Amino acid sequence: MKIAMIGSGYVGLVSGACFSDFGHDVICVDKDAGKIAALEAGRMPIFEPGLDALVAANVKAGRLSFTTDLKAGIAGADAVFIAVGTPSRRGDGHADLSYVFAAAREIAELADGPAVVVTKSTVPVGTGDKVEAILRETRPDLDWAVVSNPEFLREGAAIGDFKRPDRIVVGAEDARAEDVMRAIYRPLYLNAAPLLFTGRRTAELIKYAANAFLATKISFINELADLAEKVGADVKDVARGIGLDNRIGGKFLHAGPGYGGSCFPKDTLALLRTAEENDVPLRIVNATVEANDRRKVAMGHKVIAALGGDARGKRIGLLGLTFKPNTDDMRDAPSLAIVEVLRAAGADIVAHDPEGMEQARPLLGDIAYVDNAYDAARGADALVLVTEWDAFRALDLKRIAAAMAQPLLVDLRNVYHPDEVAKAGIAYHGIGRGVAG
Ligand code: NAD
Repeated sequence: MKIAMIGSGYVGLVSGACFSDFGHDVICVDKDAGKIAALEAGRMPIFEPGLDALVAANVKAGRLSFTTDLKAGIAGADAVFIAVGTPSRRGDGHADLSYVFAAAREIAELADGPAVVVTKSTVPVGTGDKVEAILRETRPDLDWAVVSNPEFLREGAAIGDFKRPDRIVVGAEDARAEDVMRAIYRPLYLNAAPLLFTGRRTAELIKYAANAFLATKISFINELADLAEKVGADVKDVARGIGLDNRIGGKFLHAGPGYGGSCFPKDTLALLRTAEENDVPLRIVNATVEANDRRKVAMGHKVIAALGGDARGKRIGLLGLTFKPNTDDMRDAPSLAIVEVLRAAGADIVAHDPEGMEQARPLLGDIAYVDNAYDAARGADALVLVTEWDAFRALDLKRIAAAMAQPLLVDLRNVYHPDEVAKAGIAYHGIGRGVAG
């Protein structure tokens, strides 16, 4: 199959590279000339494990190429995927669909034949209808089919997720589109990945329902962590104790500083706007969002409390800035709120992140950056583990204790065992660990 991927960001680039690895002929298109130039020179515009090798192999095999020229990109394509951003619209939380609609208009203007247009971007229910209307109005002479194919990959594990998905959801309204999608995903469902065909609106809603449910699991365990802390229980054991029940499942039950990233925050807000517009209260999702907003700020105050209630003039080392490990994505990362609270309280901040410092710089303002965890600990009054990168999982605690002005670890990911930290002479504050914390 010949595939055009419009938008070569986290989703478009990974999807395009994986489709080409299945043997399809893929062109990734982007408006950002710098991004395309970097890709053509073999440099990845994002950090994603394994992506550089996958891209290089498929470029070499002649199945994957990059362009800023949309007309050339979509010429003769069996399917044109839209994988552009759908950020939160400033002020109201509604998904900003201007990039999706602009891409649809450009595709229609430049198309040379009938095409199946596939929305991979996360878009509110009914967007497929609007995309179809744009295509038909702009080019009534062509036979269009519009499909919703939401993406469920996780940054940091994106290639594995794309190649071995739990399911593939395809919302299509006609047989031609179904046939094209079946052919595109055939290499995957031979590996038993369920291919779920639904109506287009249903597929669009599935994506938001999935993200809202996962976000709810996180906010649920985070609130229980607060309770565990107060009543002398350990939330890690609570999570394990409930997660072993198959009806609940153990994943997404890690208490921490709140969810962030480019999806959960904006998608939960967009779902709430859709619910409001349709006069259907989604009280649980609303509570999830509120709990998470409060939590990120509360984590900054937790650090101040660990310092005895005053952070003025204190030096605080942060380990990790990205919203999770194995990505350089800083969008809506909890570190943003934590740094804001600590800076407002008069603390000096020094941080290290294995991949995210370049993206963090324009967002975090006046903080210092160092090359490793031990440099972040040097002279610090508190060390805060914000993101559980592998590099922070087996620190030499004695060396950390010796480097710090005041040995204090605030472990927002519960990576360390409280006893082990105490043994190294470091005061320990975890999340929801009322027993030892
Ligand atoms: P991104 O910002 O990394 O990439 C979007 C790219 O689209 C940018 O490179 C931009 O230059 C390009 N673009 C915008 N308009 C264009 C146009 N008209 N023509 C060509 N290129 C254009 O975004 P992302 O993180 O890849 O997310 C894309 C979509 O996928 C969003 O709707 C997001 O919600 C969804 N999604 C993201 C993830 C994730 O983990 N990042 C996972 C699942 C779904």
